[in-house]
Amino acid sequence: MSSFEQFGLDPRILSAIARMGYTAPTPIQEQAIPVVLRGGDVMGAAQTGTGKTAGFGLPLIQRILPKANTSMSPARHPVRALVLTPTRELADQVSENLVAYAKDTPLRAGVVYGGVDIRPQAEMLRKGLEILTATPGRLLDHVSQKAVNLSQVEIVVLDEADRMLDMGFLPDISRILQMLPATRQSLLFSATFSPEIKKLAKNFLRPDPKVIEVARQNSTAETVTQELFTVNDRDKTDVLIDMLKTRGPEGGPLTQVLVFVNAKITCRRLARTLERVGINADAIHGDKTQEERQVALEGFRTGAIHVLVATDVAARGLDIKELPCVINYDVPYSAEDYVHRIGRTGRAGAKGVATMLATSEDTRLVQAIEALTKQTFKAIPISPQPRNRRGSSSSPRRGRDEGRGSWTERVDTPEDERIARERARAYVPPSQRHRDPLFDMPYIERAPSETEKKPAEPMYLERREKRRPVAALLGGRGH
Ligand code: AMP
Repeated sequence: MSSFEQFGLDPRILSAIARMGYTAPTPIQEQAIPVVLRGGDVMGAAQTGTGKTAGFGLPLIQRILPKANTSMSPARHPVRALVLTPTRELADQVSENLVAYAKDTPLRAGVVYGGVDIRPQAEMLRKGLEILTATPGRLLDHVSQKAVNLSQVEIVVLDEADRMLDMGFLPDISRILQMLPATRQSLLFSATFSPEIKKLAKNFLRPDPKVIEVARQNSTAETVTQELFTVNDRDKTDVLIDMLKTRGPEGGPLTQVLVFVNAKITCRRLARTLERVGINADAIHGDKTQEERQVALEGFRTGAIHVLVATDVAARGLDIKELPCVINYDVPYSAEDYVHRIGRTGRAGAKGVATMLATSEDTRLVQAIEALTKQTFKAIPISPQPRNRRGSSSSPRRGRDEGRGSWTERVDTPEDERIARERARAYVPPSQRHRDPLFDMPYIERAPSETEKKPAEPMYLERREKRRPVAALLGGRGH
């Protein structure tokens, strides 16, 4: 078995590796570390969870270590290694690792990202640090405020470059890269090599970078069991609740699950729904402050929160070790997001299960995922377990409104209210769906009840027509 000693790393780095508990390099580390140590450029196809941070972080530290010094002068601690990441969470996580790897050296490492007070960051930058992790926008803010100078950067890392492009950071990245010395080492990591990524690499890496690919499908297939359930849209929440309550050890609840949704609003509402049925859940999405996200994350890490509902952007790069289960409540719009999502589980060799709920509307998205991941799902139809709706708390958002006998959408925020109103407007009672009342009329086989007297078909038609606005007024879902 290979070991970290084989790379000839400085003992101060090896001691940090030992403290982190890493015993053997991961495949990406095996491949990347020697190349980065030699000073080569790298184009790495590796997602978060493969150990890529150490793959670039350890050799990066080794390379700038000869210039490390203990002087207090900020001028003696210029930024020599710059890591750009798409999100604050990833920035935080990467930096945390880099700080840990450099702990026994005099090198200073730190992180800057948007959404939080810029002043403490500027103060940190002014004191000087050699290893800086940053999100592009905030870094440019600091540059324009002259809190940091990038003219001595020797190594730049573009982490999750595909996501940075997706998020529209290309102009910012280009500006930043143009500020760096031309003679530098560049490392680019991306889950996939799209034409845009190749173009970025062509423009900013030296010719013929070393291309390193960690076989994503294989490594995923080995450690992650992927399953696809087909479900009626209206049953999704109940099916999810069933899963959360029964798929844990010995048929008990799952206690550490990341649930992915496509929209912030779904994120908020789903977390609240889960909480109402007694599941410890929290949400992280783009509208939450950094502090709120960190609180949620910390709760999840410590086990106080069992279910973390997340959007793709918020969950990007979350470092939660050995997450046993990821559930895609929504099929992601982009197949690449699927790869990222399920990368949260089965990390560093641990076993994981990635479950996805798909409705009939999701067929094309599922096909795109199958094409990208080169597999065919065996779709399993699933329905919620029978439950006593009236007394049950399983679908709290659809509380039975006893007096009116219809399912109503409870609303908590103005946005919820707007959606509920839209739904109410669009509501069509089941008896009238996909039917032409006039055409169907003769075929309705039903004995008229006392109150429906008397038969006269035109009257019946009239009554049915009237039901529609009443049901809409009640805001009933009825399906
Ligand atoms: P990354 O892909 O860099 O986000 O790393 C994923 C997780 O694997 C992090 O929690 C790392 O601390 C951990 N890790 C990285 N390298 C190793 C290794 N060689 N052995 C065990 N765990 C590792």
